[in-house]
Amino acid sequence: MMKLEMTNLEQTTALAVELGHRAFKGMVVTLDGDLGAGKTTFTQGFAKGLGVTRNVNSPTFTIMKVYTGRLPLYHMDVYRLEGGDDIGLEEYLNGDGVAVVEWSELIADVLPPERLAITIERTGDDSRRFLLEPIGEQYIKICEGLYP
Ligand code: ADP
Ligand code: MG
Repeated sequence: MMKLEMTNLEQTTALAVELGHRAFKGMVVTLDGDLGAGKTTFTQGFAKGLGVTRNVNSPTFTIMKVYTGRLPLYHMDVYRLEGGDDIGLEEYLNGDGVAVVEWSELIADVLPPERLAITIERTGDDSRRFLLEPIGEQYIKICEGLYP
């Protein structure tokens, strides 16, 4: 578990862009934390690092949006997913692109065992604590040498 203290928005964006650069085929990133923690903000930077040129916004009302980058990006926000809904997210979670899931704790039962689990805590107006838990060899490797 890595704990990274972000003192401002620019640091969060830099971290996210760097992880987007390092993203690999089949990667899954889960984002948990309260409303306003910075899950979507992180995803925007991550998408940029992945080479997505379109503007990424919150997919809350659509559950998932697909973007084109160096690899396809599947951006999910499962906050409004009703229990029992089966909209085929598993296909994307095990797909060839990169999946980023906001509120992943709500679909814990379908998450692949290996992933980068990120929890964001609001520590101030502009500061955030990022807890990175890389699960699996590939994820441990891509988290090496990350700085705020
Ligand atoms: P969530 O998707 O978790 O609900 P958002 O990313 O939509 O959260 O909102 C986070 C808000 O906090 C944005 O308005 C963003 O500009 C602001 N913010 C301020 N400082 C930071 C920071 N260091 N990291 C991330 N977001 C920050
Ligand atoms: Mg969001």
